Amino acid sequence: MPSSTMPSPPKPPIHVAIIGGGITGVILALGLQHRNIPFTLYERLPALTELGAGIGFSPNAERALALVDPEVHRVYKRVAPTRAGGLMEYFQWADGHGSNEVVARLAIGVDAFQGGRRADFVEAWAALVEGGRVRFGMELVDCRMKEGGDGRVVMRFADGEEEEADVVIGCDGIHSLTRRLILGPSSPSSRPSYTGKYCYRSLVPMAHATALLGPARTTSRSKSLNRFLYLGPDAHVVTYPVARDQFLNVLLVVTDPDPTWRGGKGEGEGKERHHTAPGDKEDALRAVEGWNPAIRALVGLLPDALQKWAIFDMHEHPAPRYYGLDQEGGGGCGCGSLLAVAGDAAHAAGPHLGSGAGFGVEDALVLAELLEAVGEKLQLLQQDEGEGGKEKKKKADLCRAALVAYNNVRYERTQWLPGATRAVCALFHGQNEAVRRDDWDTVMQETSKRFHTIWDYDVGEMVEEARREFEKVVGA
Ligand SMILES: Cc1cc2nc3c(=O)[nH]c(=O)nc-3n(C[C@H](O)[C@H](O)[C@H](O)COP(=O)(O)OP(=O)(O)OC[C@H]3O[C@@H](n4cnc5c(N)ncnc54)[C@H](O)[C@@H]3O)c2cc1C
Repeated sequence: MPSSTMPSPPKPPIHVAIIGGGITGVILALGLQHRNIPFTLYERLPALTELGAGIGFSPNAERALALVDPEVHRVYKRVAPTRAGGLMEYFQWADGHGSNEVVARLAIGVDAFQGGRRADFVEAWAALVEGGRVRFGMELVDCRMKEGGDGRVVMRFADGEEEEADVVIGCDGIHSLTRRLILGPSSPSSRPSYTGKYCYRSLVPMAHATALLGPARTTSRSKSLNRFLYLGPDAHVVTYPVARDQFLNVLLVVTDPDPTWRGGKGEGEGKERHHTAPGDKEDALRAVEGWNPAIRALVGLLPDALQKWAIFDMHEHPAPRYYGLDQEGGGGCGCGSLLAVAGDAAHAAGPHLGSGAGFGVEDALVLAELLEAVGEKLQLLQQDEGEGGKEKKKKADLCRAALVAYNNVRYERTQWLPGATRAVCALFHGQNEAVRRDDWDTVMQETSKRFHTIWDYDVGEMVEEARREFEKVVGA
């Protein structure tokens, strides 16, 4: 049939608000767009921006990207450097304090866990989002249920503007306002905690890095493999090439002798605490004092002026759930059950297993599928019953059911990540009382099993389970 004679598709029945345009929010937007679910993404900044620093997407995350939308995956592959020759990739652990020899290797896969500059990924994905779907300079400050039992959420933004949606997904990062709205300001889970680690991150020009360490330890064109972790007491350094070998991403993670983060200003209710503080190369070099000269020289390639990034997470005060209740005892905003959190807003973890963004991608996939399931059910209902008050009530009920199903499917896995990440960092820094720092076999085994819990996850089955869970919650 020619397209002009095709009946127009039925009006998709829900409107989703996404708060925050980090990786989780952008991938959720693309997942909804692919499924023809209307949405608006609200970002407080004037553009979708990310740091120049590097990021890697673990194999589970890559599989999830392909299920979000094959085009999203294609763009990922365009940005991430594909190695010719189908070589197996490894993480390699070297004794950064002693010999600088490789002490353990962990096979990842072929063209797997590819790294790149965050900004390059986000820019390429953001270009896929259809025009008019993203509103910049929109900082959410509050949410409430619309009066009159309409089953819609009213969002208020910093400039006083109000907007409505059927369901709101907070992808607003570790300092999430939406989490605070769900749980209430007095909940300890409203704020993340300092892990006692901070990091320095920088992109070092590849020519300098290669001159120091050789191509085998730096470039992706080298025949040998290029993702390294240099371990030593109370610190570790992670390196991998980004931007098609223009730079080596260098991340130095340091155990803070002071377990209280004093860099932040702690500005009070509703304000983010500042998790960066001025640092410098001297401090970075102190962290690797007495280490192998090559690793000291590598840290010496960092710029003189550096910023310390405190690593906070949700391990000490985990969110009890990722959606709200209508009657929130802890002082939540009252539209809780049509409001959920995803990505770092729900379960922020440190970077040591390289999986925070990947877990945000998995969340986004589940949410996109469940909100599609809501749309499908509503279309059936509309055909059966026509529009009206009953349908509006049903819409809110189905959106609630989707958020509960999302929580039930994602909670256990995502809650595991912050603790597993802390445990791995303790092994790297020689702070696990049961495992000697240089007992490389045990360090490797303990680390490998956690990586594999992340990487081997069946994201296809996760989607199936989410759909089954939705039916169960709807039927309950
Ligand atoms: C050093 C380091 C290295 C890492 N390496 C990796 C890695 O290799 N692989 C990996 O998978 N993960 C890695 N991670 C973790 C990963 O960076 C995060 O898990 C991920 O970026 C979180 O994305 P997000 O979209 O959930 O949150 P964010 O990136 O924090 O995005 C939140 C967005 O919401 C916006 N926002 C906030 N509040 C509001 C509001 N009220 N209204 C409107 N907008 C708002 C913000 O401006 C921001 O754009 C690393 C983390 C660190 C610190």
